[in-house]
Amino acid sequence: MIYDTKLLTAYSLLLVVGSFILLISSSNFPITFATHLELNTTRLTENMYVIHGSGGNVILSIGNDGIILVDDQYAPVTEKMMSLIANITNKPIKFVINTHWHPDHVGGNERLGEAGAVIVSHENVRKRLNQDQFFEMINQTIPALSKKGLPIITFSDNMTFYQNNDEIRISYLDNGHTDGDSAVYFTQNNVIHVGDDFSDEAYPFMDLSTGGSIDGLISSLKSIISIINNDTKVVAGHSGISNQTKVKDYANMLIDVRSLISSMIKEGKSLDEIIQSKPTAQYDTTYRDYSFIKPKDFVTNIYESLKSRQ
Ligand SMILES: [Zn+2]
Repeated sequence: MIYDTKLLTAYSLLLVVGSFILLISSSNFPITFATHLELNTTRLTENMYVIHGSGGNVILSIGNDGIILVDDQYAPVTEKMMSLIANITNKPIKFVINTHWHPDHVGGNERLGEAGAVIVSHENVRKRLNQDQFFEMINQTIPALSKKGLPIITFSDNMTFYQNNDEIRISYLDNGHTDGDSAVYFTQNNVIHVGDDFSDEAYPFMDLSTGGSIDGLISSLKSIISIINNDTKVVAGHSGISNQTKVKDYANMLIDVRSLISSMIKEGKSLDEIIQSKPTAQYDTTYRDYSFIKPKDFVTNIYESLKSRQ
């Protein structure tokens, strides 16, 4: 087993969200849910917000054309999220854009699709959502979504929306976190959602079982850096609102740690020896949120990604 039991338990069975607990099973997700779980909003610009509090961060764009969401958290909070949005605006939810297939980012798809939202994603996201997925890291099968939760518009490379007085560019990235990662850039508001390719407080996770890789992640971050500028508000899947400098720091950290691990593999060192050498040491205080990925998990993840290419 690559990751320790505590980590698996933390991610697959009990997702502790603040002081509340979300209980998940592989067959029916979720079983129970604390309905008093809190969702919060942070205002990004005059007409854009981030909704956070459970699962992946959600971007909310409000305008005359309606509401556009980027990602939609876990299924159990969908009603709560819809109430929260209704308290801000009476506009309908017109589009939902999924950054990737993971259930903490697409959980609201079925309910929102049923309510009339048009769901949009990269074609690989739809393919994965359309059939059961074995999520190797948590050793669980994630059931396929019903038809009403599937994206009804897909793209292979890029797509642009002209809505809410903005030009919203969706860019397919490389095989980094998964094989369906996209960044969604609201050019006029200068806000981008980068899914789980970046965090300003935690090491990344490459989901090798559904197409992720360290080299793809580095390539994806370079693409993101080229899309944004100094003033862009960067919304990560699970951390705070960040900026281009921190994305650059993250890319440099990945390049450095990958290089150290690659050299040690070439020298014939074992995974244990590589972990013992602490190749992430100088970054451990910066990316200190170990609730999901600890330094040794990150090293293992890179090691496995590099080994899989040999
Ligand atoms: Zn993810």
